[in-house]
Amino acid sequence: MSTPNIKSKFLGSMIGSALGDCIGELAFRFGNKEDLIKEINNRNIIQYTDDTAMALGIAETIISTNDNWNTQDLGKTFHKNFNKEPYRGYGRGPPQIFRTVEITNESYNKVASKLFGGEGSFGNGASMRIAPLGLFYYDHPEIYKVAKKSATVTHTHPLGIDGAALLAKLNSILIPRKREELFMQEKQNLIDDLIKFSKTNEYKEKLKKIKDLIINSEEMIKAERILGSDVLAYTSVPFSIFAFLYNPESYKKNLLETVLISKDRDTVGAMIGGLLGSYLGIEFIPDEWIQRLENKDYIEELTLKLFDLKK
Ligand SMILES: [Mg+2]
Repeated sequence: MSTPNIKSKFLGSMIGSALGDCIGELAFRFGNKEDLIKEINNRNIIQYTDDTAMALGIAETIISTNDNWNTQDLGKTFHKNFNKEPYRGYGRGPPQIFRTVEITNESYNKVASKLFGGEGSFGNGASMRIAPLGLFYYDHPEIYKVAKKSATVTHTHPLGIDGAALLAKLNSILIPRKREELFMQEKQNLIDDLIKFSKTNEYKEKLKKIKDLIINSEEMIKAERILGSDVLAYTSVPFSIFAFLYNPESYKKNLLETVLISKDRDTVGAMIGGLLGSYLGIEFIPDEWIQRLENKDYIEELTLKLFDLKK
């Protein structure tokens, strides 16, 4: 049995997540499979949104600091990238944080913690951008801590943090794992590991529901009804985890089906695309899609730098 090709999985995760974002975004306007595939093929370039812009910001920060970064460093990268490309479809939170930091000179984390009446955001933002962190720190003993460090630039609520940490953890498990069929028992073990890893009851409960859905071989539609897939992390993160386990074998089929069923489509696309890429590797992502990805060369270059830094 061959050993997993880590480089292919790094590329699979980063490109897979970016393409998921692009295709999910298109799925808002092209809401059935035939139209969506046709639209992708009709375009020379498919564009990504804030999800990928921020994921690239994480990779850039890890590289530029030689893996010696803090929350404030990451905030500065996000901020700079937002100022350069404010048109990426950012939610309300990040621009508000950046503007406040410009005026008050407070830290990103401090400003973020004051959002939503002092509770902090528990939207998808910290989870949607997590792919590069999950893969770069796949063998890190304290991946929860690192994920939290990345989340709290913008998302300080425990539910915003826990979603990011869970996705980072699942990506980290998939990177060194051989691409062999995931049997029922193994899927259940994976979910049990995630239940132990999670720090909030909300996610633990959702993960137990995922386990029941998998054991009962329930369909995606029913899973979406039970788990949700909207802008709140404790809906979209669990749904993406379910969707990955539902059909980990095909990037194309799974991604299309998942984004078309979900509500926050670009973000769920980024999450599921990253997971599938971490599991399958770049060879299993359709080349005709990769060739259309906006800034493909830059994303590849950045991913290979991340891979080299890891070595
Ligand atoms: Mg987006």
